[in-house]
Amino acid sequence: MQGAWCDSPAPRGIGFCGDRTACLRPASASKKQGFLYFAAWLRAYPGSSTVSRRNSLYLELTNPLKSMDRITLSQYRRILFFTGAGMSAESGVPTYRGKGGVWKEYDYEEYACQKAFDRNPEKVLRFHELRRQAVLDCLPHEGHRVIAGIPGVKVITQNIDGMHQRAGSEGVIELHGTLWRLRCDRCRTVVEDHGKSYETLKCACGAWLRPDIIWFGDMLDPVVVRKAKRSVEECDLFISIGTSGTVWPAAGFPALAREWGAYCIEINPEPSGGREYHRTIAGNAGAVLPELFIF
Ligand code: NAD
Ligand code: ZN
Repeated sequence: MQGAWCDSPAPRGIGFCGDRTACLRPASASKKQGFLYFAAWLRAYPGSSTVSRRNSLYLELTNPLKSMDRITLSQYRRILFFTGAGMSAESGVPTYRGKGGVWKEYDYEEYACQKAFDRNPEKVLRFHELRRQAVLDCLPHEGHRVIAGIPGVKVITQNIDGMHQRAGSEGVIELHGTLWRLRCDRCRTVVEDHGKSYETLKCACGAWLRPDIIWFGDMLDPVVVRKAKRSVEECDLFISIGTSGTVWPAAGFPALAREWGAYCIEINPEPSGGREYHRTIAGNAGAVLPELFIF
């Protein structure tokens, strides 16, 4: 540990002062800010403990990103990020399960399945409009921007919120569809729609437009799944972020990547600890991603 304060530019104003220790009070921060940073780090690195030295608080990281553990991106040629609801959690988009999970509050049988849509299309569309508005009130975080800034990477997401694209990622494979597209199941028209409110709820052919999302009980689009699997098989670095690994076929992607020879990493504050991962980083996407890579 060197010096009482840390000047290094790090996410959320925290610097790494040594291999295993993060300084909780960067030079420019007030004591109050320091404690806020401290709380953020404790959330990001569950199980870490604090150490008080020379009137300053330091955090001993149980699962630190040591400089030797950082990933040198030039060592890999085909990098793939595989993201789930936890990737958007720090943006404020609720996850699927767990505390604040969407389907704890709403009954999916009322709002997110084909039967519900057939019964009352307008009710289902209005619900999805609310979800769009909630997502538009959120912003992509630093982790989304880090991913978008790596040239040539591929992104496969289970999320339907479009956050990766808003951060600048291109060619994102959206396994479960998107809130920002509607389709007509009668004449096969597909409509892009990005506003807070839907431009129209009905297709030119007169049928109701339906959100182009994989609802409960829907089959995934086989073309999208094939494309995703090909990318998983081709990658040499596979980074899974914020997924509980319970929704198939996405849950099988980490094992597929490993089988095809990729180096596999998991980033999650509550890691699955699956054997398919070579390395697990117990932390939040927004805190870990800005520290992880050597460009
Ligand atoms: P999930 O809710 O089952 O699991 C979320 C995972 O994220 C958990 O393992 C949790 O520990 C982890 N997590 C929480 N905060 C995190 C953080 N800050 N950084 C990193 N990880 C964090 O989500 P899933 O595995 O993606 O499966 C849920 C399904 O629900 C998917 O099919 C998805 O389409 C859908 N969904 C999407 C959104 C969205 O678009 N944002 C939101 C909710 C659900
Ligand atoms: Zn139509």
